[in-house]
Amino acid sequence: MKYDFVVVGSGFAGATVAERLANDLNKKVLVIDKRDNIGGNMYDYKNNDGIIVHEYGPHLFHTNNERVYNYLQNFGDWFNYEHRVLGKVKDKIVPIPFNFTSIRECFDEDKSAKLIDVLVNKFGKDKKIPILELRKDGDADTSELADFVYENVFLYYTMKQWGQKPDEIDGSVTARVPVYTSLDDRYFQDKFQCMPIGGYTKIFENMLNNKNIDLKLNTKASDVLKFEDKIYLNGEMFDGKVIYTGALDELFDYEYGDLPYRTLKFEFENLNDKYYQKVGTVNYPTKDDKFTRITEFKHMTIENGDEIDFTVIMREYPMAYNRMNNDIPYYPINNEENMNLYNKYLEKSKKYNSLYLVGRLAQYKYYNMDLVIDEALKLYEQIKGEI
Ligand code: UDP
Repeated sequence: MKYDFVVVGSGFAGATVAERLANDLNKKVLVIDKRDNIGGNMYDYKNNDGIIVHEYGPHLFHTNNERVYNYLQNFGDWFNYEHRVLGKVKDKIVPIPFNFTSIRECFDEDKSAKLIDVLVNKFGKDKKIPILELRKDGDADTSELADFVYENVFLYYTMKQWGQKPDEIDGSVTARVPVYTSLDDRYFQDKFQCMPIGGYTKIFENMLNNKNIDLKLNTKASDVLKFEDKIYLNGEMFDGKVIYTGALDELFDYEYGDLPYRTLKFEFENLNDKYYQKVGTVNYPTKDDKFTRITEFKHMTIENGDEIDFTVIMREYPMAYNRMNNDIPYYPINNEENMNLYNKYLEKSKKYNSLYLVGRLAQYKYYNMDLVIDEALKLYEQIKGEI
């Protein structure tokens, strides 16, 4: 088949653009992925006990974006699931984000009543306050609370996750998990919160199952594409367009140096117990535990967890990414230095006017799944307008 488009990567960025081009515009698309599975880090599978396991870490779908939500409904059925997270804080297990219940668990009755009162007067009810903001506040009571939460929820978790203190990393990262002046103990407050019945992999199969799409797994971009004066596909000049969703330093052979990322090592454990913990995720913002969190999949990936007598859990160990170890780049590290390096690669990419970048890796942004899909749909509209 003669291709109009080559899409590099079959995660949500690549699969969304490929699906739109193939279905909506009847374009011929080659999708390549270096892994032997589709779906990027959303790839999941059913284990022998019938529990869907996320091989590359837990992926919870949530969005306020109706267009993204509606788009995904085309590729499978979803069940409502509202994620809840608990965290080990001193000797207690309390809701994360830190909320009124967490305050009551960690402080005595009088103190917690006072803290809640002060917070509500200052910030209002059902308000989200990033920990770094709360620390700046200065008031004696809020300072005491801010110091407590900083030390016991953010400091060691962030040191483990990023190798840096909360105030050394971009403020938007810790702001993802604010202090919440509420009794609401859900991790997200988005309008749409759901998980795919049967898992994400099926959704990706449905997105990519199209006569206009050829899929080649175990294929790196550099196996088929060459970026010289022009773009070459399998040795011949390619006059179509390339949608690239991988890491930009890799695309240009690390010419300006390596872009930093954080990677994760996962430790899976099968247990002969019905449940290990009360909720899908328990965070360990503790100094002594080397992992950041434990995920128990049956809470979040299937609807009939109660009927299964076994469970599977996963501990997460974050570390610095090293491509020489074949690590997976999970998180971009957004700071000025890294953005400057990224921007050099971005400048270089602009030499190729038929090359488009989208996704967490290619855009070097800490995107959630819904934002990736939104970016991909926008890119599709842009391309549609251009051709
Ligand atoms: N965080 C923390 N303690 C927690 C939860 C989160 O310090 O108990 C910080 C940490 O820096 C983390 C960030 O908040 O990287 C964002 O957390 P989130 O759960 O959104 O991370 P993700 O699920 O994307 O890994």
